[in-house]
Amino acid sequence: MTKDYLIKGTAGENQIRVFGAVTTNLVQKSIDLHHTSPTVSVAMGRLLTAGALMGAMMKGNDELLTLKILGEGDLQGILVTADANGAVKGYPYVKQLKPDPFEAINIASAIGNGSLTVIKDIGLKEPYVGYSPLVTGEIAEDLTYYYAKSEQIPTSVSLGVLLESEQRVKQAGGFIIQLMPDTEEKIISELEQALSQMPSMTKLLEAGQSPEVIFSDLFKNLGFKVNETKELKYHCNCSLEKVTKALISLGLKEIEAMIAENESIEMHCDFCETNYPFTSNQLKTIAQEIKKN
Ligand SMILES: [Zn+2]
Repeated sequence: MTKDYLIKGTAGENQIRVFGAVTTNLVQKSIDLHHTSPTVSVAMGRLLTAGALMGAMMKGNDELLTLKILGEGDLQGILVTADANGAVKGYPYVKQLKPDPFEAINIASAIGNGSLTVIKDIGLKEPYVGYSPLVTGEIAEDLTYYYAKSEQIPTSVSLGVLLESEQRVKQAGGFIIQLMPDTEEKIISELEQALSQMPSMTKLLEAGQSPEVIFSDLFKNLGFKVNETKELKYHCNCSLEKVTKALISLGLKEIEAMIAENESIEMHCDFCETNYPFTSNQLKTIAQEIKKN
């Protein structure tokens, strides 16, 4: 399978900015890691794709985007993070819905009423936090609404994940189209006209259309050009060092209680499902280190 990638481009005399992504492999990776049932797999895939697209809007190397959906439905929630370098990861609060027939995937009902939170950590003391209620629970429309309400940017978001079997992704991808401030009326109406004639995301995915082809078709009267292409991947940056730091941050009391109760413990990374076991002796060493400092 070809690699996942993202393109950034412009159209309409630079008054429209566009982001398109192919995310088939990273969505597959999420399924392989989390062993999700079909509805959860598709919901995860949509939010991971949104993360990849929105991560590409971040600038600095240390900037981090977090998308969190919380809902009253059985899926409960999804968390995704992405950076500006094409690394994206996430996890669902509930991995398997039962029943969850492959033929009847229903994201909106699995998520239910809820909220979308967007956190942009751009290295300032306080991260930017935006929040909006879910309008459909289908994720793309919720993001479109978020952009209109929270950031006042007219945006069209489209996200799609097509499964070919319970555990297998056929095609995944999406795009974000945004109007720059003061976009001319004639360009807005051209764009609206083009969007209204666009095939559905599912049809585009079924046809295996690349973002370049989709955008060239969509913007045939608006002059589309690609400014940047970058690789996307599902990547978790956890490490024994980071996990140990997290353990230390629990405090001496907590660690001594663990030593008293158990022979060993296991720390777990929700993003990549890696276990980090700590023996009682390792915990004692950590406790001693904390006492020393
Ligand atoms: Zn991890």
